[in-house]
Amino acid sequence: MDRYSRQTIFPEIGPDGQRRLLGSRVTLVGCGALGTVLANVLVRAGVGTLRIVDRDYVELSNLQRQILFDEDDARDGLPKATAAATKLARINSEILLEPIVEDFGPDNAERLVHDADVVLDGTDNFEARYVVNDVCVKLGRPWVYAAAIGSYGVVMPIVPGETPCLRCVFPQPPGAGAVDTCDTAGVLGPVPGVIANLAATEAIKLLVGAREHLALGLLWLDAWYNTIQRTPITAPVVDCPTCQQRTFEFLDGAGGRRATTLCGRDAVQVRPTRPGELALDALAERLSAVGTVRSNPHLLRLTVEGHDLTIFRDGRAIVKGTGDPTVARSLYARYVGT
Ligand SMILES: [Zn+2]
Repeated sequence: MDRYSRQTIFPEIGPDGQRRLLGSRVTLVGCGALGTVLANVLVRAGVGTLRIVDRDYVELSNLQRQILFDEDDARDGLPKATAAATKLARINSEILLEPIVEDFGPDNAERLVHDADVVLDGTDNFEARYVVNDVCVKLGRPWVYAAAIGSYGVVMPIVPGETPCLRCVFPQPPGAGAVDTCDTAGVLGPVPGVIANLAATEAIKLLVGAREHLALGLLWLDAWYNTIQRTPITAPVVDCPTCQQRTFEFLDGAGGRRATTLCGRDAVQVRPTRPGELALDALAERLSAVGTVRSNPHLLRLTVEGHDLTIFRDGRAIVKGTGDPTVARSLYARYVGT
C-alpha cells in the first residue's frame, strides 16, 4: 500500500477506497490521445485490472499527444494496446493488464464490457461511442464520455438508470461533415490531457463509491479561448430510446460498416467478412512475392502500389494512402482475400 500513500491520505479515498481500486476492473475503449492519459492515471492509482482495447498501431504523428508511446514503438509499428501495456507494466507491475488488439464494435462489445466496473471512452468517433453507450446501458455499467478536438473537449460521467445517457444529451450521432474532426481541426496536445485527467477523476470517484461527488452533466472546456461551462443535466430524458425504452440499435447493428475511414490518417480500416484468426506467417510468405513485407508478432505490413496495408491477426487491415473505402476494400480483396 505504500506506493499509494499520497492518495490514501486523501480522506475521500483512504485505505478502504484504495482496496476498492485494487479490486476493480476497468475497460478502456481506445488508446490514443485520451486513452494513454486515462490508462496512465488509472494504472498509477492502482486499478486492479485494466483491459485496453485499440484497433490501431503507433505512428510518429501520435507522439505529440499520446503519452505512453515513443519513437521505438512508431518505428516498430506496434499495436497501441500492446505498446501501452508494455509501458504500463513498467510503471506498475502489480496491475493486471489485458491488451486487446481489436476494433470495438457490436460484435465484441458485450464480451469486452460485461465484467467491467467502469468503462472509459478513449475513442475518436461517434460510431464507437454510441456502441459504448448502448452496451453500458444494456449491461448497467457506468461509463465516462470524453472527447477532445482542436482546443476544446467535453467530459460527462454516465450512470445508467440514474443519470442521463449519451443519447439523452445527443439523441443522434452528428451527420457527416456536421462536426469538427481531427482532420479539419487538429488537436492541441495538452487538451486531451486535461480532458482525460478530468475523466479519470470521475472514474476514480465511481470506483471508490463516491457517486455523490460525480460532476454530473456535460462539462465543456476550451483551453485556448479560456472557457469552462457546465451544462447541468440531472435526470434522464423521459423518452430516450436507449436508457428509457431500452432499444439498442447501435449494438444491434450487426457487423457494422466493412470499411471505415480513420480520422486524420489518410487511411481506411477494412474488416473481414467473416471474423477469424489469420495465419500471419503464411500470409507474409505469400505476400513477399508482390511487395515489401515487414512483420512483428502482432501484425504484418505490406507496401505495394503506393499503399501500406497493415494486416492484423484478427483479419482487419488498415490501408494507408487513401481515404476512399472503395480503393481500400479492393486492395484488401486483392492481397488478403474477401
Ligand atoms: Zn438516455
